[in-house]
Amino acid sequence: MLTAPAVRTGQPRRLRLAGLLLLAVSALVSCHNDPVQHAEYFVFGTLVEVSLAQADEQDAVQAFTQIQDMLQSMHQDWHAWEPGRLQDINQAFAAGTAIEADNDVLALVRRSQTLEQLSGGRFNPAIGRLVALWGFHTSDYPVLGPPPTAAAIEQQVSHRPSMADIRIDASLIYSTNPWVQLDFGGIAKGLAVDRIADYLKEAGFRHAIINAGGDLRAFGQRASRPWRIAVRNPLSGVAGSIDIRQDEAVFTSGNYERYRLAPDERRYPHIIDPRSGWPAEHVMAATVIAADALVADAAATALVVAGLAEWREVADGLAIDTLFLTDENGTIYASKTMRQRLQAAPGVRIEALPGER
Ligand code: ADP
Ligand code: MG
Repeated sequence: MLTAPAVRTGQPRRLRLAGLLLLAVSALVSCHNDPVQHAEYFVFGTLVEVSLAQADEQDAVQAFTQIQDMLQSMHQDWHAWEPGRLQDINQAFAAGTAIEADNDVLALVRRSQTLEQLSGGRFNPAIGRLVALWGFHTSDYPVLGPPPTAAAIEQQVSHRPSMADIRIDASLIYSTNPWVQLDFGGIAKGLAVDRIADYLKEAGFRHAIINAGGDLRAFGQRASRPWRIAVRNPLSGVAGSIDIRQDEAVFTSGNYERYRLAPDERRYPHIIDPRSGWPAEHVMAATVIAADALVADAAATALVVAGLAEWREVADGLAIDTLFLTDENGTIYASKTMRQRLQAAPGVRIEALPGER
């Protein structure tokens, strides 16, 4: 994961707007005297920070209010285990009935079908039942208790829930497999970040960074220089920094912060290999740069499942060339293009990815 962008210089001027999610709005002035308008929200269990450079303050405040509304409805619509649109769909899938869905849902289902296929089934948002079985439908980590029984896991896996089981017929959606349950936890942040970026661009903002707990998309520049972001390393703190080019998303999936802790102290992390039903434990984290946040988010999750042995299948499938994996010693295995871009922090070891062309 990444830390906040380096825009917190100068004295923030805070202005609170009413509302559940919007925590604060402030204008930050850097040493170059370029104001950055800044807002913070709390959604999906994560702090989302939006920073706008070279923007009019009033325009910014208006945009921040709009973003708050967007996040609020996304939170309700896409939640995997609270009542809402997704839960209605999941109930229909389990009952084998068709349900009306709007274009937003249909578009996300179609994109996820492609992402599952291109990631070789490593990213699979149809495994909601498996995620629930492991107890990961919670915001309270660590989850405590022994893992599910091997038989219960095997039962889920044997029914092979897949996005490919979902059929769309005009505005109706249904699943041919009652074991399919949607869980967009692996791309919720990416979806939200893209939506905010799209909205800001449409509203005419040219320089922005949207940072969701270290996963981010940025476009334009911070004054006359690129947005520079810090990438965190699970063990040593900061892995290094990356300068953003034009419009890019940088996402990390980690298998070290959210996990189940068994009575014997064994940890079972929250990213599950859909092929085995068991948590993916080959690497600690995966970081990806991609053109949009949804793909970056899905790819990072799929790369944690793939690990060092299978990383290339995911990279080729999803057309990702700038990535790194972090092993349990904190060693970074980076692709060639990532090695050219990541400015490593002192003492951080960077190796080539195994078998890279
Ligand atoms: P984080 O950003 O917290 O590291 P991810 O983006 O990797 O998380 O998403 C992890 C979440 O995605 C899990 O909590 C679960 O809801 C869901 N999930 C777990 N395994 C998979 C998988 N193989 N494919 C798709 N979604 C998954
Ligand atoms: Mg993800």
